[in-house]
Amino acid sequence: MKPNVAAAKAALSHIEMDENPATIRSKSRDFFWYSPLLKDRLDHVQADFVVNPASEAEVIEVLKTCYAHDVPVTVRGAGTGNYGQAMPLAGGCLMHMKNFNKVKSVYPGGVIAEPGCIMKELDDEIRAASGQELRMSPSTYAMATLGGFIAGGSGGVGSVRWGALRDLGNIIRLRVVTMEAEPRVLEFRGEEVPRVSHAYGTNGIITEVEMPLAPAYDWIGIFVSTEDFDEAMRFAADLANEDGILIKLASVYEAPMAKSYFQRVNAHVTERDHLLGLMVAPHAMDAFAIFAARYPGARVIYRSDASDWPRAPGPVYEFGWNHTTLRALKFDPSVTYLQVRYKYPDHFELVEQVRAEFGAEVLQHLEVLRENGKVCFAGLPIVKFTSEERLEEIVRRHEEMGCMIFNPHRYTLEEGGRQSTDQRQLDFKREADPKGLLNPGKMIAWDDPDWSYDQIYAYPGLLPKE
Ligand code: FAD
Repeated sequence: MKPNVAAAKAALSHIEMDENPATIRSKSRDFFWYSPLLKDRLDHVQADFVVNPASEAEVIEVLKTCYAHDVPVTVRGAGTGNYGQAMPLAGGCLMHMKNFNKVKSVYPGGVIAEPGCIMKELDDEIRAASGQELRMSPSTYAMATLGGFIAGGSGGVGSVRWGALRDLGNIIRLRVVTMEAEPRVLEFRGEEVPRVSHAYGTNGIITEVEMPLAPAYDWIGIFVSTEDFDEAMRFAADLANEDGILIKLASVYEAPMAKSYFQRVNAHVTERDHLLGLMVAPHAMDAFAIFAARYPGARVIYRSDASDWPRAPGPVYEFGWNHTTLRALKFDPSVTYLQVRYKYPDHFELVEQVRAEFGAEVLQHLEVLRENGKVCFAGLPIVKFTSEERLEEIVRRHEEMGCMIFNPHRYTLEEGGRQSTDQRQLDFKREADPKGLLNPGKMIAWDDPDWSYDQIYAYPGLLPKE
């Protein structure tokens, strides 16, 4: 089946398209360049055309037409994914959801919205309508779409209280369109949600999302410094375990990260200062002050509601999660990162083991996370990149020590996850995308069920470099 791109494009010409080659190129890219391994492999990837549907009916038309002409379809939210998730490895149609962005209803405890909503704009609308907010969002809240977060993200700001996106109850319902001669519209709830959530749009296109909400607060952003790394870790984890103090973020940055990479913070810290970034609810500030006083080396150096800094640092969450890596890369393009899970109850010991082994080669950046009701750490350490082989060795050593790695230097679902097939997602792809046209190359199990994960997967259909 040879794709007939020209025929598909002509048949869809009444739907908004981007014709400018520079726009097509930029919309074919995401933040894959974070990884020196992916940058080399994916830099040349580009779609043949970009279409911008504004409704479910238009999404169905795009899918039906591309199915008829055997054209691959890769869906894009805002393109802030870090692993080439939204990149059209086999070319074809790039379906950008930016115009498909209405809020349909807000009710006590929930919201129903279209997938192209920008999360911050969605939250502003929810707050104005009801005094509520989304439970969690990526640190790319100001740019990322709701659909992109569900299909490509995992958690973030709010996960210290609510856990990860994949946890039961954090997504109420998804409406999904299939890639068939006559696309079907299906709805998933509860146990069925993981068939399409975090599937990179490989087995269906999300056209409506129902998410749970929490009461909204004017969260106070706080920075705390300490010269003792163990104290920084304990402060963050203990704060998350204080049941009466409501927080939305607890990040830990090993020294000298704050001094080297955090503009507008660096004047207020030294090379030896480890930093904590926190978001605390206003009504919890009295209790927070009492809590903070229990840590002799900890100093509150910034509060967003009472700052004497001449230049405001901006939202504290834009220092956390994968924004930390972005800030580090701006100062030192030679660094990269990993995604590590330091599981309860060994989280403190595992972090110390990694620090002892790698020292400054792997600087710790921890995000406190609730997992199965227990507080533990997600690590997004800043790694000095010297060679592909050394990076693989660092990954291997983490795994040998008992840390779980979600490898950000891979573009497939399996390698970026638990290195195993998600049978539910594969089964649904067989049903919903029989020709394998949705975001090709991202699900190894579809192409090669016997893949052994002993080396980086190279999708055979990847567009050749010129
Ligand atoms: P895109 O990158 O456009 O798409 C992501 C994936 O979803 C792609 O595979 C795409 O094909 C698919 N997709 C998009 N829309 C749909 C749809 N309607 N139906 C089916 N599939 C769809 N991630 C986190 O989880 N937490 C963080 O805190 C976080 N911080 C980040 C910080 C920085 C600085 C950067 C660069 C990235 C960060 N990320 C984080 C990754 C990314 O920003 C988020 O996952 C974000 O939610 C992706 O949204 P997007 O709209 O940009 O999706």
